[in-house]
Amino acid sequence: MNLHEYQAKQLLLDFNLPILNGKVYINNLENIEEDLKKIKGPPWVVKSQIHAGGRGAGHFLKSVNNKGGVQIAKDIDKAISLSHSMLSNTIITKQTGPKGKKVNRVFIEESCNIKKEFYLSLIIDRDSSQLMLMISPEGGVDIEEVAEKHPEKIHTFLFSNLDQIFLDEKLHKKLEINLSQFQELQLIVKKLVLAFKSLDASTIEINPLVINDKGNFVLLDAKMIIDDNALFRHPEIINLRDISEENPLELQASENGMNYVKLNGSIGCMVNGAGLAMATMDMIKLFGHEPANFLDLGGTANKERAIQGFKIIQSDLSVKSVLINIFGGIIQCDMIANGIVDAIKELNFKLPLVVRFQGTNASQGRDIINKFSGNIISIDDFTDAAKKVSELAK
Ligand code: GDP
Ligand code: MN
Repeated sequence: MNLHEYQAKQLLLDFNLPILNGKVYINNLENIEEDLKKIKGPPWVVKSQIHAGGRGAGHFLKSVNNKGGVQIAKDIDKAISLSHSMLSNTIITKQTGPKGKKVNRVFIEESCNIKKEFYLSLIIDRDSSQLMLMISPEGGVDIEEVAEKHPEKIHTFLFSNLDQIFLDEKLHKKLEINLSQFQELQLIVKKLVLAFKSLDASTIEINPLVINDKGNFVLLDAKMIIDDNALFRHPEIINLRDISEENPLELQASENGMNYVKLNGSIGCMVNGAGLAMATMDMIKLFGHEPANFLDLGGTANKERAIQGFKIIQSDLSVKSVLINIFGGIIQCDMIANGIVDAIKELNFKLPLVVRFQGTNASQGRDIINKFSGNIISIDDFTDAAKKVSELAK
């Protein structure tokens, strides 16, 4: 689950990390004038809250002043007018895609005089199964760009024991900070690791982490992703979910226990299991086509879920044909076949469908499909099925 910057900062404050005081406004700017008197300033920084980065360098659909989603306000009037113009506006950044994202929340924070900007992130390194710290003196910019142009400026560390976080002393030279700042950084990393572990995060990214005019570190931006599978342990974090940031079809799928991912092609894929989804998409690409989406019905799919799945695929207007690829393990192919037939009738589903069943009750499933006189065919062989659905998408 993705968090907004202000939410991540709120959580990190509990770990005594150096974060500036601020206030969020959701959909309206009630009391902004009184609030501003309580936040140190002017100046203040007005920050659009969306689930995407690159806000600083982004631009608004209805132009504010061509200065992007993070702006400094020198007085109360400017802070209020900036907030007004950002709220409900659409911001387009490198990470939002050309359609941009609507800004429903604005965060106003005390400002900071930046002397130096760093990039810092914690992620799980899947090769070593360890927590990895990445830190770079090239902060505040796209880390992908740094990785491409100056890979030597990104320093990585793996932590095998989260209770013993020590950074290599040589790092202070590489980052061009003095020894007391190095100690301060070490403490920040320790606290961030503790936060990562206790909040079940999968990513924490601080870009930029800055040194202010007093020579101290401050976390100016925060991106945090929480592991969905651990959310049951964090009811306070579940409440932070902002469903307006999520793709409505992906949301509908997850509410029904399925996993839906929107893609850019024209073939809808309904499968059970993520591995089978990957194999199905590979096969479609092999025939020169692109999947429009994949919908994973899950290992315990039933008839109701198949109907829900059809509803989701039907709402995706880029779908031209659909491949249903089911491996019957625990689930029975004939039960899914009945679900498919019911769904086609109930939803008056018109798109061409190719079904491939293998495993438990596959032949009974095929019989049900073959007897039904809709725009649907059953093909046993995976390659043939993928080939057929690609032809039908043309
Ligand atoms: P992002 O562009 O979505 O990553 O948003 P950030 O929160 O990182 O803000 C973008 C940039 O705005 C940062 O890299 C900083 O350089 C700048 N910025 C943010 N807050 C302040 C502030 O308080 N003072 C100053 N001078 N610059 C700031
Ligand atoms: Mn940033």
